[in-house]
Amino acid sequence: MENGSEVKTMILAGDVGGTKTLLGLFDTTRPRPRPLLVRSFGTLDHADLPAMIAVFLKEGGGARASNGAIASACFGVAGPVVDDTVRVTNVPWFVDGPIVAAALGLPRVALLNDLEALAHAVPVLRESETHTLQDGAALPGGNIALIAAGTGLGEALLHNINGTFVPSASEGGHADFAARTEREIAVTRDLTKRFGRADLEHVVSGRGIVNIHRVAHEQACTATVDLESPGAAAMISAAAMERRCAGCVETLDLFIEAYGAAAGNLALRAVSTGGMYVGGGIAPKILPALTAGAFMRTFRAKPPLDAMLSAMPVKVILNAESGLLGAAVFAANHS
Ligand SMILES: [Zn+2]
Repeated sequence: MENGSEVKTMILAGDVGGTKTLLGLFDTTRPRPRPLLVRSFGTLDHADLPAMIAVFLKEGGGARASNGAIASACFGVAGPVVDDTVRVTNVPWFVDGPIVAAALGLPRVALLNDLEALAHAVPVLRESETHTLQDGAALPGGNIALIAAGTGLGEALLHNINGTFVPSASEGGHADFAARTEREIAVTRDLTKRFGRADLEHVVSGRGIVNIHRVAHEQACTATVDLESPGAAAMISAAAMERRCAGCVETLDLFIEAYGAAAGNLALRAVSTGGMYVGGGIAPKILPALTAGAFMRTFRAKPPLDAMLSAMPVKVILNAESGLLGAAVFAANHS
C-alpha cells in the first residue's frame, strides 16, 4: 500500500556514530519507508542529540510542512543500549531516550544498537544495494546473519520466525579471536601480550588492520603510515590494493582471511541458510580485494559443513545509509 497524498505523519530516524551521525525524515511506507530528507552531521559538532535534531528539523522545514508531524522516531546508536540510554562508544556523547522523546513531544523514542538497526534494513535491501560474493540460494525458513567491520566489529542475527525476520543484537565482536594459522597465532600472541586477550574486534576492524600491521610488517613500511592516526587502516588498505608495500599487502591478506573465517564462524552459529550479509564501512572500500577469493575461501573452509556454507548467498552491503534505513524500518513497524 502506498500512502500517497493522505500521508499525515513522518518518521524521524538516526544512525548515531562516534564520528558521523545521519538524520533522516521518512514517510511511513511499509516495509520500506521512503526518505524525504537526509543529512549528515559531525557528531561532536553538537552538544547532544536533541540539539542536533533541532538544527536538522529547522533546515527541513519544507519536508515537515508538506508531510505532517513526526509520529515516531528510532535511532541506531554505536554502543550498548542500557535502560533506554546509550553511551556512544569512544566519544563523550550520551543518548537518553526519554530526554530525546520529550524534546520531540513524543511519548517515547526507540533506541537500538547500531548493528541491530542495520539488521532491520537487511530484509528490504534492493539487489542494486548489495554486491554478491557468492550466489547461493536462500533456503525458505533460513536465518540471516550480519557481520560488519568498521571502527569496531558488530555481529547480529536475523532469526526466521515463521517467515518473519526478527533481528537480535550480539556482542560477538568481543568473543575470542580464533587463530587458524601460524601467522594468526603470532597476531594472537602479540594482542594477548598487549591487551591480556585477543578478541575478534582486535583483528577484524579498522583498528585490527593496524594491529595486524604491527605483526605482519617485517620491513619498514613504504606507505609511511602514522599508525596512531585515525586514517591508518585506510592508508594501509590503499597501499596494499595499489601494491605499493609488500608488508601492507601481507597485512590486508591476513585481515581478509580473518574476516572471511569470522563470517564463516558466525554463519555456523546462526545456521544462516537465508544468507550472510557483510556490512560496515570497510567492505565497500576494499571490494576488489574482498572479491579476489581469500574471503570466500576461508568463509567456506569449515569441513564437514563446507557444503552448507558454499550454498548460502553472501552479499556485501553497499548502501552506506542502510543503518539509517533500518532505524526507519523499525519505527514504521512499531508506530
Ligand atoms: Zn606497509
